[in-house]
Amino acid sequence: MNSSALSPRDVIVIGSGPAGLTAAIYAARANLSPLVIEGEPSSTSDQPGGQLMLTSEIENFPGFVEGLAGPELMSNMRAQATRFGAEFLTTKVTRVDFSSRPLRVWAPDPSTGEEVEHQSRAVIVSTGARSLMLGLPAEERLLSRGVSTCATCDGFFFRGQDIAVIGGGDSALEEALFLTKFGETVTIVHRRKELRASKIMQDRAFKNPKIRFVWDSVVTDIAGGSKVEGLHLRNVVTGEESFLPVTGVFVAIGHAPNTDLFVGQLDMDAAGYLVTAPDSTTTNVPGVFACGDVQDHTYRQAITAAGSGCMASIDAERWLEAALTD
Ligand code: NAP
Repeated sequence: MNSSALSPRDVIVIGSGPAGLTAAIYAARANLSPLVIEGEPSSTSDQPGGQLMLTSEIENFPGFVEGLAGPELMSNMRAQATRFGAEFLTTKVTRVDFSSRPLRVWAPDPSTGEEVEHQSRAVIVSTGARSLMLGLPAEERLLSRGVSTCATCDGFFFRGQDIAVIGGGDSALEEALFLTKFGETVTIVHRRKELRASKIMQDRAFKNPKIRFVWDSVVTDIAGGSKVEGLHLRNVVTGEESFLPVTGVFVAIGHAPNTDLFVGQLDMDAAGYLVTAPDSTTTNVPGVFACGDVQDHTYRQAITAAGSGCMASIDAERWLEAALTD
């Protein structure tokens, strides 16, 4: 095994969504020369950068009057961090050891694949959250064959087709509204009669002539061998079974935190989100800070993630200063 660092760094940032990149910008401007282990491209995005890589239009990030695309915001943040000296590794952390000092983080070398150990005095965890799936066998088989979690990535392929979106939150409505640019019809299938989404998104969806709703219904199966042919639905109130003929299905039912790496090392709540001290990003391990969706299941916004990334960097900087003077 290779060891990249004879002397530990000041800060390693794990993850490159708005939280991680904001932490990197602040840490770089504080002369802490952060290493950002940014993750890898995924099946739904050709760049790391978290969930915003899958977001079509962001209208509520302050400072952008006309809104901007998620990937553009992430690419700007990455360039800003780079400008101040943040270093990036496009690879995924495979394990960590926070039980002794310096803190240790392992990740494969992006070019050789050989596992490399990185050492640091402080670590900022910003690994975010991921899309939840329905858990149907057909869903996995038909992923990228009509089943998707990303309208921005795949909407174009469903031009003129009938599409279903599963879920009743802001993500589902945002996906549905975006998909009306391509689809002939967009049917939102929701397991209750009330939407969870914000009022403004509800108003937009209700006003859109291409959007229909199927209430109180769950998907029991997705029909189709090599491509989606429709959804088998069950009304949870009446028990009635029905079939919705669609060729595209977008699953938008929420997220789970990416915290598997930290099991047994960092405190988590019952849902697996990292626990931080009130009004702070400190975790139960001194020198390890957590920010963004990995520790926030309440707000989960790009701007709140960015704000907590800023907090994590300031917390890390102060902690490093105090550690040096101890
Ligand atoms: P969410 O708010 O947790 O909504 C998930 C939706 O999926 C809920 O309606 C839920 O139903 C449904 N659901 C969950 N599990 C299901 C299952 N197994 N089968 C069927 N339906 C299921 O998640 P989200 O929409 O991803 O939003 C997450 C956060 O990001 C929210 O705070 C949201 O406001 C924010 N967000 C904001 C924007 C924006 O401002 N543009 C865009 C996207 C997301 P129930 O309602 O019955 O629980």
